Amino acid sequence: MIRYLKEGRDPGEIASDQAKVRAIVEDILADIAARGDEAVRELSIKFDKWDRTDFRLTDEEIRGCLSELSEQNLRDIKFAQEQVRNFAEKQREALQDIEVETLPGIVLGHKNIPVQSVGCYVPGGKYPLLASAHMSVITAKVAGVPRIITAAPPYQGRPAPAIVAAQHLAGADEIYCLGGVQAVAAMALGTQSIDPVDMLVGPGNAFVAEAKRQLFGKVGIDLFAGPTETLVIADDSVDAEICATDLLGQAEHGPTSPAVLLTNSETLARETMEEIERLLTILPTGEVARTAWNEFGQVIVCDTEDEMIETADRIASEHVQVMTRDPDVFLDGMKNYGALFLGPRTNVAYGDKVIGTNHTLPTAGAARYTGGLWVGKFLKTVTYQRVLTDEASARMGEYCSRLCMLEGFAGHAEQANVRVRRYGGRNVPY
Ligand code: NAD
Repeated sequence: MIRYLKEGRDPGEIASDQAKVRAIVEDILADIAARGDEAVRELSIKFDKWDRTDFRLTDEEIRGCLSELSEQNLRDIKFAQEQVRNFAEKQREALQDIEVETLPGIVLGHKNIPVQSVGCYVPGGKYPLLASAHMSVITAKVAGVPRIITAAPPYQGRPAPAIVAAQHLAGADEIYCLGGVQAVAAMALGTQSIDPVDMLVGPGNAFVAEAKRQLFGKVGIDLFAGPTETLVIADDSVDAEICATDLLGQAEHGPTSPAVLLTNSETLARETMEEIERLLTILPTGEVARTAWNEFGQVIVCDTEDEMIETADRIASEHVQVMTRDPDVFLDGMKNYGALFLGPRTNVAYGDKVIGTNHTLPTAGAARYTGGLWVGKFLKTVTYQRVLTDEASARMGEYCSRLCMLEGFAGHAEQANVRVRRYGGRNVPY
């Protein structure tokens, strides 16, 4: 049996909020498409109180940002980037081009070609989320993308030194200090001062995620990666402190970030709820986390692990932290999630910041149909074919011609017929 000790607003049900965001984003995109840089500048002033004639950072500004960071800061950023690069390189190696002879004389293949230019959005409205620079820029680099541009909003009135350092050290070709819809729109549509890209990637708030969704088609996007979500699956092998910490550690992302506890221990559930109240009084980011917890937090108690798997798959959370006696039950059984964090020794913050897996992950149920950002998202798997012999061409042509006529495509059929006559010396028997 599945029981809710605490229910939150279902993010899927906040349709009116989403409609408002959709309308705001539509207007901004139309404005930028019509007026380019002038609109970008006005919007940047309006939403971020940030004004420049050219939003691209100069080499001198980039050097200035780097010089503001301590040696330890720089070493930490480089360590995180190395972990992301190492894992992305292994993932790249696993993506092989193939060429196979499927029938005598018929050769089919596929190649992985990098997208030629990408725009990497690095969020930074509430916190300077420098880790997103590693996740997007480095992964694109490993995929072999030749032009990588990146944008992040100003933080406390100016470019955030830590973000700029991460963007630069990751190897970005152009760095812009621009936030929100105006940033992704400028990169996707292009303006007088910014050349457009082929694909947009990176996480962001509801406005950024919706802008990417609306821009899809004009450009490619990685996935729908909006406000962070977390699901903690736990049994009584762990205590309330670690569960509460892991829930609030993600709820602090923003007031609409759902944090959900799923457990088969009612005692753990009740203790965790009490512990959350205690931690909320001492966590420096408690105000944001409290709103998120009060409005979107959920506590669900199940009797069996099968029920827990079924419930977790229905929620399809971006992050799933599993702290049970045998976390592999969930690794083997679960189908819908952005990333799994198995056992109490790891946690979502490791994945978010440093361990090497990508933190740009699907939200709002998108985990039902996609995983997160990875090197494969920057590659186009394109196919080719070759027919090596006259016999193979004529044989394929006979099947093709009949199938074309079944669809009423006379022109297609003739493409096949001419080859059957030329390479097979016969007409197609119908
Ligand atoms: P952000 O950079 O995504 O957004 C800031 C921008 O939003 C501002 O520059 C501003 O231009 C724009 N904006 C703010 N209010 C607006 C309004 N009313 N109308 C139009 N535009 C407006 O930074 P953030 O707000 O701190 O959000 C970061 C988000 O990224 C969080 O929700 C976090 O959970 C999410 N995130 C998601 C993932 C993922 O993989 N899914 C990973 C990391 C972070």
